[in-house]
Amino acid sequence: MNQPVGRFAPSPSGRMHLGNLFCSLLAWCSVRSQGGRMILRHEDLDKPRCPVEYARQLEEDLRWLGLDWDEGGLNPDGSLSAYCQSQRTSLYQQALEELERKGLLYPCTCTRAQLQVASAPHREDGTPIYPGNCRKGGIAPDRPAAQRIKVDGQTIRVQDGHMGEICQHLPTECGDFVLRRSDGVFAYQLAVVVDDALMGVNQVVRGADLLDSTPRQVFLYHQLGYEPPQFYHLPLLLAADGRRLAKRDKDVNLEQLKNCYTPEEIVGRLAYLAGQQSSIQPLRAAELAQKFDWSKVPQNDICIPDKMFKIG
Ligand code: GLU
Repeated sequence: MNQPVGRFAPSPSGRMHLGNLFCSLLAWCSVRSQGGRMILRHEDLDKPRCPVEYARQLEEDLRWLGLDWDEGGLNPDGSLSAYCQSQRTSLYQQALEELERKGLLYPCTCTRAQLQVASAPHREDGTPIYPGNCRKGGIAPDRPAAQRIKVDGQTIRVQDGHMGEICQHLPTECGDFVLRRSDGVFAYQLAVVVDDALMGVNQVVRGADLLDSTPRQVFLYHQLGYEPPQFYHLPLLLAADGRRLAKRDKDVNLEQLKNCYTPEEIVGRLAYLAGQQSSIQPLRAAELAQKFDWSKVPQNDICIPDKMFKIG
């Protein structure tokens, strides 16, 4: 394979929690262990939730942990750059127009309430599978329309570098999906594909919460004429009680961690959880990259032991 090109693709909507750190660290180690290049892209499409100060803090936090990148991030003066999704909407618009020319899109004015009919089939994450109402025409002319893409007959198979084969029949397991919301904001699914393709990313390492999105993204790669990257999905880190970590729950985040631990102590703990060392020893990120081994990373979600990170 060509030289790996990986990326950090954080959403700067708050301080990173342990799950975000885990993904960033392992994405970086995977690429660096193979002599590859790393790009930093801020996924700030949801602009009001992603003020630029958060992106600045995020860069400082990544550096503090010992991670670096060869390309991307904010401008040197700390302002938004061409590696911030909020600045790239004309590229998403072009991709949308290309799909439109291929006759793959249609407008949809269904409201959330219309779609949340309890009897309708739902995806694993609880979102309803779109029943195709607006495909037949008859959209509400007085309501702003979202743009959906048709997924007719598509079964997508993806060979994940860590999790093995993922297979999804898009019409029954996903349905026609939104590429631009009715408020004009481009969907993550479209933006991430356009960006990774245009930035030459050929290795995507991210949390298993995005496994379910991967077939949709591979479908978009094909429709836009791009080669999909090699995906590697990581097990999720869960709180000691088995709960998913979330920024909004103020889960153990770097603000608290930085007061109690050195970067080597945090990296050492995350490396232990990732199966890369058999006891909790402090470790520099660069040392972890040298011995990083995908085959030792667990596949199942990982509960963070209760006393592993004591704050305060
Ligand atoms: N921006 C997404 C997140 O922070 C990651 C997207 C991706 O890796 O594809 O969850």
